[in-house]
Formats: sequence, C-alpha cells, structure tokens
Amino acid sequence: MEKYFYITTTAPYVNANPHLGFALEIVQADCIARFKKLSGFNVAFGFGTDEHGLKIYRRALDEKKDPQKYCDEYAKKFENLKTALNLSTTHFIRTTNPHHVKAAQEFWKLCLKNGDIYKKNYQVKYCVGCELEKTDSELTNNRCPLHPNLKIEIYEEENYFFRFSRYQERLLKFYQENPNFILPKEKFNEIKNFVKNGLKDFSISRIKEKMPWGIEVPGDSKHVMYVWFDALVFYISNLGWPINQKEFKKWWPGFQVAGKDNLRQQTAIWQAMLMSANLPNSKQIFIHGFVTVNGQRMSKSLGNITDPFTLTKKYGTDAVRYYLLREIPSFDDGDYSENRMKEIYRTELANELGNLVLRLTKLCEQDNLSFKMETANKLDKKTIELFNEFQFNLILEKIWRKIKSLNKQIDQFAPWNKKSSQRRNFLLSSIQQLNSIAFELQPFLPQTADKIKKAISGKIKKIDPLFPPLINY
Ligand SMILES: [Zn+2]
Repeated sequence: MEKYFYITTTAPYVNANPHLGFALEIVQADCIARFKKLSGFNVAFGFGTDEHGLKIYRRALDEKKDPQKYCDEYAKKFENLKTALNLSTTHFIRTTNPHHVKAAQEFWKLCLKNGDIYKKNYQVKYCVGCELEKTDSELTNNRCPLHPNLKIEIYEEENYFFRFSRYQERLLKFYQENPNFILPKEKFNEIKNFVKNGLKDFSISRIKEKMPWGIEVPGDSKHVMYVWFDALVFYISNLGWPINQKEFKKWWPGFQVAGKDNLRQQTAIWQAMLMSANLPNSKQIFIHGFVTVNGQRMSKSLGNITDPFTLTKKYGTDAVRYYLLREIPSFDDGDYSENRMKEIYRTELANELGNLVLRLTKLCEQDNLSFKMETANKLDKKTIELFNEFQFNLILEKIWRKIKSLNKQIDQFAPWNKKSSQRRNFLLSSIQQLNSIAFELQPFLPQTADKIKKAISGKIKKIDPLFPPLINY
C-alpha cells in the first residue's frame, strides 16, 4: 500500500522580506518531510504566499506600486527560500493565483450553501498590523500589544459574517476525539479553553470601494473576502482543490506547521471552515514558538530583523538549518545570536563533524580503501520515537554523541601511528559508523549528508572541508 503524507507551512504575508521566524517554520517542516520520506512515505510539501488585504494594499500605495507588482516582487523572495534553505517543497501557490482565487470562491459558496454566511451591520476594532479584528480584552490601552505604534481602527459597514458560533460543540467534540491534534499540549489546552468560552461570528468581507485588494465575493461584486478567509483556503488550493479531486483526496487531510500567533486561525477558525464546507479536518497541527534575536523580538522598529538569505550566504545552508533545529526548541521560543552561531559553527560543525569526516576520509584515501554498504541503513526505534514527538534538538544531540564517540575512538586508536595493514579494519568499521551518522543527518543537514555519502561510497576520497573556517568574519 502506498503511503501519502502532505505537510504544509502557513502562507507568509508578503508585506516584508522573509525573516528568520518563517525560516524556522519551513526548516522544521522540511525536516519532518524528509523524515517521512526516509520512512517510506510519498510526501507532498507545500508553502505559498498570502497576498491580499488592507496592509498590503496600503504598502503598495505608499510605494506607488500596483499591488500585483508589489506582491510579485515579494513572492519571488519567498519562493527563493527553497534554494537558500535547500527545501524539499513540492507545491507553491500564491493567493493571487487564479486557481486559488477560484478555490476561495468555491469554498465560500460551500459555506454559504450550508447556511454559515450571512450579512449584518458591523462595527469593529481592527489592528492593521495583524490584519485582525480585536476584542477589548485583546487590547492594552486601546492598542494592539503586538503593534503598539499603530492606532486601532474602527469600522462600521455592512459585512458578510461567518457563523463561527455554530461550531463550538463540534470543535470540542473533534478535539476530544483527536487527543494529539495540536502539539504541544499547552497550546491544545489554550485553544480548547478559547472554544469553551464561546465563539463569536466574525466578519469575512470588506467593502470593495474602500479596499479593492481582495477576492471578489461570489454573487456580490460590492464586497471582497476578508484576507484570512481567503488565505486559509491555500492549504487545499495548493493541492489542486476543487478542480483536481484525485490529487486532493490523495493528500488531504494534511499536517500543518504554524507559529503560536497563528493558533486560533489554524486550529479553530480553519477547522470550523472545513466543517462548514463538509471537508475533512486537518490531520495534525504543530505549533512552534518565536525566534528572538539577542533576546529581543524581531521587529522593524528595532532594526533587528534577521534575514535568512544573508545568514546562509555567510555560514552556508546547513549551518543555518543546524542552528534552527538544534538551538531553537521545537515548541518554544528560542534565540538567535551571531556569537552563538559562530560558536557552534566552529565547535560542533567544523571541529566535531567536519574534522571527523576529513581525517577519516584522508586516512582511507592514503590506504586506498573502498567502502561498500553491506546492510541498508535504518532509523533506530528511539530516533523514530523522538521524530514522532518532533524533538529535533534531542535527535541532533543523539547524533552528536555518536560523532563525539567516534572522534574519541579515533584519538585512542591513533591510526596515524599504525601501519596501514594494522588500521584497515579499524578504518572500515569507522567508515561504517560514519555512514550511519550521514544517514541520520539527512533530514537535518541534507547537503552535508550527501557530501559524506559521496566521499565514502566506492573508493574513498578525501573530502573538502564541510565547514571551512570563517576567515572573513
Ligand atoms: Zn496587531
């Protein structure tokens, strides 16, 4: 039986360049995707860009650009993450793509048919920074705590509403029947409490005259869809829904990765929308924390937004992937600092892993040794267990224990003091261990793992340094 696994990140909003927080999300997703592939699954891995809404419309006007042109520039940058971070993504869609536009409209029609969309007068407090409505309890001094520099805007107009209140019972029942639906547990509890406290219908349209940058509401050309309603549909439009039902049924329900600021949208709103459209709910949702830089939240005003492209240029793709998967806890906030990056580059990557591979392949080349894999590599039970809990840092710790122990064995045996006939078996058994280390490194450092495999398959060749010294920094 063929096994299928669909994983997707959120679609980042294209009002700024990609930052390290989204790099974390998509590298975590890539690690899971590659692990599933190693475990025998066919894997579809999707991401995309969220391009409608007031914030983008205003930004484009400020820059005197056509909104579509403005989005084109940014979407390209996000798509370029695939190369910069060596991602195994298979699907990418922009919410301005005509297929997505049709999908969002079709989704709307299904919810409408089910009686979940209605029109009413509407007055609301709105944070343009979040592109979200805010209730009084979410505001501090009538300001959004995430965007204290922006004034809360108040709208009054006739809007379409989504009957979210109707889904309280069904959501709670669904959560109960799927006790691992959201990871980590504390985030699951947070959303259960939110739903238990009662759900309010929310506005899902805007008057086109005031804000034209959105998908037209089917059957009412005076309104465009609220950006979140349109964007959430990207999870399935990316698979070809509703046109390609065969592909959709093959891959959905999917596994979603999202940041903690997205908890409500992904785990409650989107799930209620799926129920309303009579589509299966997501399979599981992984919620990660934020990346701070030198202990501070990344923000434009602080000027500390760390750009993944600059980092990969400076340290290489795998070093950045290593930092994100090893130093940032899977489900918690973590910190990025240049000093820590340099430190782990020098110690764990260049000294421990890089030197191990360099000295082993050099000795083997001198002795003219060849390596042939006898038995296929397999992930051990403990590693699979840790993967199923998404404990990336613990798996890397485990791999690094093997690297350190192999380094120690080599130091103790000191093959360089021995004759080549005396060290042959030792070297070949060390290469066998290195081969299994490279196998386990694949989901984390795919390029490095490939380089090692290449150097040791067949006639062993001395490898070029995997993590060359950072001379210029
Ligand atoms: Zn805000």
